[in-house]
Amino acid sequence: MDKQQEFVLRTLEERDIRFVRLWFTDVLGYLKSVAVAPAELEQAFDEGIGFDGSAIEGFARVYESDMIAKPDPGTFQVLPWRAEAPGTARMFCDILMPDGSPSYADPRYVLKRALAKVSDLGFTFYTHPEIEFYLLKDKPLDGGRPTPADNSGYFDHTPQNVGMDFRRTAITMLESMGISVEFSHHEGAPGQQEIDLRYADALSTADNIMTFRLVMKQVALEQGVHATFMPKPFSEHPGSGMHTHLSLFEGDRNAFYESGAEFQLSKVGRSFIAGLLRHAGEISAVTNQWVNSYKRIWGGSQRTAGAGGEAPSYICWGHNNRSALIRVPMYKPGKTGSTRVEVRSLDAGANPYLAYAVLLAAGMKGIQEGYELPAGADDDVWALTDAERRALGIEPLPQNLGEAITLMERSELVAETLGEHVFDFFLRNKKQEWEEYRSQVTPFELIKNLPVL
Ligand code: GLU
Ligand code: MG
Ligand code: MG
Repeated sequence: MDKQQEFVLRTLEERDIRFVRLWFTDVLGYLKSVAVAPAELEQAFDEGIGFDGSAIEGFARVYESDMIAKPDPGTFQVLPWRAEAPGTARMFCDILMPDGSPSYADPRYVLKRALAKVSDLGFTFYTHPEIEFYLLKDKPLDGGRPTPADNSGYFDHTPQNVGMDFRRTAITMLESMGISVEFSHHEGAPGQQEIDLRYADALSTADNIMTFRLVMKQVALEQGVHATFMPKPFSEHPGSGMHTHLSLFEGDRNAFYESGAEFQLSKVGRSFIAGLLRHAGEISAVTNQWVNSYKRIWGGSQRTAGAGGEAPSYICWGHNNRSALIRVPMYKPGKTGSTRVEVRSLDAGANPYLAYAVLLAAGMKGIQEGYELPAGADDDVWALTDAERRALGIEPLPQNLGEAITLMERSELVAETLGEHVFDFFLRNKKQEWEEYRSQVTPFELIKNLPVL
């Protein structure tokens, strides 16, 4: 038994913890959990815990459904909302096949595999997410319209703002679980919040996002409201994104940094961005995986009324340009570590393991093939005409899930990164969602056509 495993077993005793939840994530990004008694843990560390994978989205076909969850002791944390004794703790698991090899269906393994590839080249991949979400008074399940929990706006700080208490409690809880928070504020729309996590290696960030979504929902319920990460719950308000800042390090040297270069951005950094741009379309179904994701990035003509809400629709990069898909944030002098690129398409409805794997693969392809970075866009690209954008070589992101699926289907990069099993399952599942959506006759059509046709 190693030191981390010993630490877990000791803590269970000392803190009177009777329930240990083993967490893992299905292909769509839903958190799954099985609770085991502490007495089972020693064996779980050795051999894992068997479960029926056929019940989990994307995991296995029925005839090969035995799977094993093996807890990662480095992710052990006591759950703060179960503070009363006996307590509850959790660990993330790796999913194994019955023969002990990693399961090709496990999203955590997909990311680990992508990270191992770049680690062989001497790089570590860091990510820093800005997570936006809404707090709602209610969560109608019949398709009715939800009500935001407050009426505040960007950076508002008012006593009747539910978000303030909420953010304090939620952040305290995250920090007690080892997740550091850098910033938090009320976002632009009523009920909309943003909490930014401190940068960490991409695997820890992805685990942290899974924890984050659960903690937000938990704290919201305790305060009589509901948290949602749905990308665009209101047509007249901005959507919720999960902008993520990415950087690559070689040892403790930031590989994106070059003193004196434009924006202090090295050749490696420029090629990485070029890769993100060239492959943006084909990875979109993974970074923006729901029908609703495209309502956020195509907020469209309501953009002027603020409802488009600074979500990117076009494939371009810029320095201080919030209409761009990729932004190189202002460099902070004296901090070589601060050069990074911000991807603004991603939303918090994504599976963070798969999303970070495909973003990394796209950027690395740019580095390995030495892609040239096209000129940056200084203009507000939404304000340009189609012809102007064409002249500048600026292509749109997919306009809906259907287009995104078509691009993903042809993508060698995504197939290779996700592996055949996840790639096939993901496409099958998303095609079904798109078909279901397309077959609906919506209130929009009825209102538009019925009175006059
Ligand atoms: N809510 C916007 C989005 O959907 C982002 C606003 C911001 O710049 O933080 O991406
Ligand atoms: Mg924001
Ligand atoms: Mg941002």
